[in-house]
This record gives sequence, C-alpha cells and structure tokens, in this order.
Amino acid sequence: MIIEEMTTHEFSKGLKKTKTVIVPLGAIEQHGPHLPMHTDIFHACEIARRASRMAPVFVAPPINFGVCRSTADFPGTIGIRSDTLVSLLIDVAESLYRHGIRRFIFYSGHAGANHMAALLCAADELMRAYEDTDFAVINDLDLFDAELFKLLEADNDSHAGEFETSLIMALAPDLVGKLPPADRPAFPRPFLARDTRAYWKSGVWGDPGKASRVKGERMIAILSQNLAKMAESMNNQKKNTSRRGK
Ligand SMILES: [Zn+2]
Repeated sequence: MIIEEMTTHEFSKGLKKTKTVIVPLGAIEQHGPHLPMHTDIFHACEIARRASRMAPVFVAPPINFGVCRSTADFPGTIGIRSDTLVSLLIDVAESLYRHGIRRFIFYSGHAGANHMAALLCAADELMRAYEDTDFAVINDLDLFDAELFKLLEADNDSHAGEFETSLIMALAPDLVGKLPPADRPAFPRPFLARDTRAYWKSGVWGDPGKASRVKGERMIAILSQNLAKMAESMNNQKKNTSRRGK
C-alpha cells in the first residue's frame, strides 16, 4: 500500500487492514566514484515497497533528504539540518496520525549518527505527545540476520562498499560505475575533521570489489522479509508498548 499511489478512498479502506506505516528515509550524498547519490533513499524505498507486498503495511512517500556530516563537503551532497529533519518528520507523522495511523516504522537507508539521532528525537517527541502510538527507528543494520552477515566478506564495510554496491548492482546495475579499490577514511579521531575530504579521498568506506549482483539480490530479499516481519509484529501489538532506551 504505497500511499502516494493510492486514492483517498483506498487509503481509508487500507486502514481496516493496518494502522502501521513505514516511512522510508535516506540521504542524497556522495557514494564514492561509482554509486549514485540517491543510493540510501533509493534502496530504502525499494525494500519498503517489497515489504508492503508481503505484509499489510502502508508505505509513506520518502523523505529524500537527511543529515549528512562526513559526506557534506563532497560535491553534490545535499543535506538538511537535524532540526529541519525532526520538524519535517513530526509534521508528516502527525498528518498520518490524524488520518488513523498509529504505528510508525522510521526506516532509514542512511545510518549517519546525527541523522539517526534526529529520527529518535522525532519519535520520542511524538511518542510522548500521542499515547496510543508505537515507534520503531531503524536502519539497514537492524534488519540484518545471520544469513545476511554471512554474505558479507569485507570487514568494516559501511559506505559505498560491498553492501551498498551489491544493493545497487541488483536494483539498478546501469547506475553502477567502475568499481574503485577498497578504502576507509583516516579521520583524526577523537577530533572532528573540519574538512573530511582531506582524510577520505575516495568517499568509499569498505570494499566495493567484494560486491556482486547475486549477493545484492539475496540481501534485498532478506531485508524486505525482515522489514515485513517487523511490520507484522507491529500490526499485532494490541497497545502501546514502545520501547525506550535505544
Ligand atoms: Zn549509503
């Protein structure tokens, strides 16, 4: 049930099947020299779409922009402030609440720490304001299972590496360019880097050379199934049991 593709009448009918929505979130940010900048939001939307075919759950229109820190200086990255994201998400969720949605899965294809913190802030504020709601704030890692971990060969693979390159190879192979060598940033921890590009030339964090289309297809199947299972378990909740402390 993709909300933007439904009529208002179909939306009302859909509420009889579920009061759960997946809100896909991501970012428009550099993904190395070989992947498109919409990698995060693109795969999140595709996985949410597939999950909605396996379980009764709404999928909200995507929130394309996210909070980007380490990629902010790379040409083409378009980020928004944490406050903007919190406000936007609260507005979208309140609108959905007004129409009967009670359970929310904020599913992000982008896992930056500040970005995830903004999603948690929004969920926390909403949860306090509306007592009959439930929230899950997740990224891809929360949908990993043992089989998915087994597919990954590269260590410390987090951005434009084996995982994300495999996903885009499976979803849109025409958008994948020549694979660059493995790389990882050398940020001057614990200090914050003023110019992240000085410490991270390629924009790759992992090993794209270990990626494959076959792996990507399996990963997408696993992520979609696990997201559908999460939606089912939210559907089956009888009352507010939001978990705190994440
Ligand atoms: Zn990404």
